[in-house]
Amino acid sequence: MFNKNFGDKKIKLAAFYSLGVIVVVLILNYLILSMRTEQITYNKFLDLLSQKKISEVQVTQDKITIIPKDNSGIGKKILYTGRIDDLDLKNELKASGADITAPSGNDDPLINLLLSYVIPIALLLVIGRFLFGRIDKKLGSGVMSFGKNNAKLYAESETGVTFEDVAGQDEAKESLIEIVDFLHNQDKYIKIGAKLPKGALLVGPPGTGKTLLAKAVAGEAKVPFFSMSGSNFVEMFVGMGASRVRDLFQQAQEKAPCIVFIDEIDAIGKSRDTGGIGGGNDEREQTLNQLLSEMDGFDSSLGVVILAATNRPEVLDKALLRPGRFDRRVIVDRPDLKGRESILKVHSKGVKLASDVKLEEIAKATSGAVGADLANMINEAALLAVKSGRDEIIQADLEEAVEVVIAGKEKKDRILSDKEKRSVAFHEVGHALTAALLKHSDPVHKITIVPRTMGALGYTMQLPEEEKYLVTKEEMMDEITVLLAGRSAEEVQFNSVSTGASNDIERATKTARNMITIYGMTEKFDMMALESVENRYLDGRPVQNCSAETATLIDSEALSIIKTAHEKAKKILSDNKELLRKVAEILIEKETLMGDEFMEIVKESSAWKEKTEA
Ligand code: ADP
Ligand code: MG
Ligand code: ZN
Repeated sequence: MFNKNFGDKKIKLAAFYSLGVIVVVLILNYLILSMRTEQITYNKFLDLLSQKKISEVQVTQDKITIIPKDNSGIGKKILYTGRIDDLDLKNELKASGADITAPSGNDDPLINLLLSYVIPIALLLVIGRFLFGRIDKKLGSGVMSFGKNNAKLYAESETGVTFEDVAGQDEAKESLIEIVDFLHNQDKYIKIGAKLPKGALLVGPPGTGKTLLAKAVAGEAKVPFFSMSGSNFVEMFVGMGASRVRDLFQQAQEKAPCIVFIDEIDAIGKSRDTGGIGGGNDEREQTLNQLLSEMDGFDSSLGVVILAATNRPEVLDKALLRPGRFDRRVIVDRPDLKGRESILKVHSKGVKLASDVKLEEIAKATSGAVGADLANMINEAALLAVKSGRDEIIQADLEEAVEVVIAGKEKKDRILSDKEKRSVAFHEVGHALTAALLKHSDPVHKITIVPRTMGALGYTMQLPEEEKYLVTKEEMMDEITVLLAGRSAEEVQFNSVSTGASNDIERATKTARNMITIYGMTEKFDMMALESVENRYLDGRPVQNCSAETATLIDSEALSIIKTAHEKAKKILSDNKELLRKVAEILIEKETLMGDEFMEIVKESSAWKEKTEA
């Protein structure tokens, strides 16, 4: 079969090498022999004998080695090969005075065989192995290591990760603890006849700790951990992936109890009927089929548990999700406030924190961040502390690190002209002031006009007072208004506009559309689903599912939401033009204003009094 050949390429290569070695040794032996000896016919031998040119003969079963006399003119030993049943031979030998001697030691057929064949062949094979090993290492998992040996590379006997290293994923941990228990005390389950799930699928956005959790399960259960990424299975040769799956499961069953972890399983588990160009991918399909049949094939009482992770569960083939395969789903979602705090705690174990550090504050400021982001922030803060010559991390380092991860590093060498700086300052204060004066928007945490590497020339950071799980229509409207208030401030102050609002516009429009199509917040479309979110855990981009006419209506509805919000922002800012100028001038001077400094100024204004009285 075509597949098999590729899968066993290594074995084939080795076989070729061994065959070559044997042929070479045979030829060499033959050459050496013919250099040292010459074969003659029996008659020639008798001739030599009668000419008395022979001093000695060594007779063995099937050959006679003839050693000529020194003065005979014949240099080498002569060999006659063949059966010797000439009864007169003995007499002839006697007559010619040739001695019959015993074959010398190394004519023992066994030793001969050893010396001339076995040892050289063995030696060459050992050298071959060594060379193969070198090539193998050089190419990594390349040409030479097709098939068999590959899964071995991924077997780690101890991951060293425990559940303690995974923070803020309590529900996920709880469902996995059961699996650990199963691996620990299989008897308990088998006795009662319970069948444990063969596999669990970890689902969630990137960086939430899926890979980490899988490792923790293996670490807690203290069993071997075979891990492979889905993309490793998909090779350039058809059939390679399937053969890897086979090898992986074969090894896993030998090492049971153990855990097989397939990371990014969507690479092979994509639904078979949504194939790419040309109606599907043969290689991936074969690999998936192999995986399905392996999962069905083994007995779960062996203690092999299959974990897989993906951030695109919706594209997975339904066959993977049916009972008896990945029948259990473990959601690993973005951590909430408490979760973020505990993740920060876990990652700050290895670093020195000053006593002023309040991780809770940082957790509050990082809504939406995943574990990987938070780990990154702690490290960034440590780097900042080192940079400023401190030996411990202070709160300011952490705050700066949050901004670095969100908006990029401060870009001090980007010099804005005074005019640009004024424009950015008014824009940002526009956001901040509108946020402060609207009822349903989040408090301002920080306003800055220090440019960042990730494109922002300045930004206003708002922080919710507490973690929000539900957002009301009013809050969404105010959010849009605040987003559009940057540009509105430019209009109110300079009566001209700049390109600086592009990101605001994009976000405002997206929110407006979501209000209409997903959250059913408009009268016109009532509670009709006009869009559905396809991959919830990645970008969450919605896909429209309505007619073209409706799409046009949605556009005009979104436009009217945007227009309303824009007018509202402009009204607030032109009503409070004085306050806008005052704060903007301070910001231009200081470049950064913290939330409380900003609110002190706002709270003196009449607009604030109106808001609080209302
Ligand atoms: P995923 O596989 O979901 O994309 P990973 O497990 O690879 O994410 O996480 C990347 C890194 O982020 C981990 O090595 C760990 O340092 C950190 N991390 C992510 N989630 C958590 C968590 N819940 N607790 C602690 N650390 C986490
Ligand atoms: Mg991962
Ligand atoms: Zn803006």
